[in-house]
Amino acid sequence: MLLRLETLTKRYRTGDLALTEVSLEIPAGQIVGLIGPSGAGKSTLIRCVNRLVEPTSGRVFLGKREITAMRGRALRRARRCMGMIFQEFALVERLSVMENVLTGRLGYVPFWRSFLRRFPQTDIDAAFALLDRVGLIEHADKRADALSGGQRQRVGIARALAQNPDLLLVDEPTASLDPKTSRQIMRLLREVCTERGLAAIVNIHDVALARQFVGRIIGLKAGRIVYDGAPDGLTPAI
Ligand code: ADP
Ligand code: ADP
Repeated sequence: MLLRLETLTKRYRTGDLALTEVSLEIPAGQIVGLIGPSGAGKSTLIRCVNRLVEPTSGRVFLGKREITAMRGRALRRARRCMGMIFQEFALVERLSVMENVLTGRLGYVPFWRSFLRRFPQTDIDAAFALLDRVGLIEHADKRADALSGGQRQRVGIARALAQNPDLLLVDEPTASLDPKTSRQIMRLLREVCTERGLAAIVNIHDVALARQFVGRIIGLKAGRIVYDGAPDGLTPAI
């Protein structure tokens, strides 16, 4: 199993119980869509996996490694195996498209200028190949803020892939995109996961989109799993 969550619970300091004893397993190569009403705990679940949000109790395993037992350098290294993709893209606006992709290799955002020169040619070549894959090669030198929403999310995907992850954590990737662009982004996500054998957890706002693009849907409600299975079995009530 690539990812295993064991009785994961998150209570925020404000008292909100966002997740209650959530357990699930995701094999390599599987794309899981997380659905549920606002406040159900979808975003918290995604962030507990790489501990951007610290779980209150329960355990997270990536392969044989227990993420919840790690600290410092080991945790940073493990996080690199988990690429994150965000609703608002989280690009560095002042950097070029190419530089944004390379921040995925780096694992952090550098503050110095022209940091491209610091990368070995193999990294640059790999980043170009990724930009080619997501259809942005001719935009490589543009500033990130010169792109459309759909293009910006493609940069987000290329940046996550530049980490060579085993798992993608994807938080509402299409929430700021129009329906047509949303479908293109979901199709691209599904394709790159299939090509690379990546697992993904995708918090999808839009249930119709989830049905169309993922093989397994997990429904969350008030911090608990209320559905786990094929998109076909999903009743409209969830
Ligand atoms: P943790 O318990 O993991 O340390 P925090 O309680 O520090 O998390 O939450 C991070 C920040 O988000 C806090 O400043 C908190 O006030 C704020 N926050 C509070 N309620 C919400 C909410 N419902 N949604 C998003 N952020 C919230
Ligand atoms: P979803 O992604 O399904 O909308 P969230 O994971 O954002 O759900 O939120 C789950 C619950 O946790 C909600 O009650 C929300 O208000 C609360 N919550 C989320 N983030 C924070 C935070 N940083 N601090 C306190 N409460 C939070």
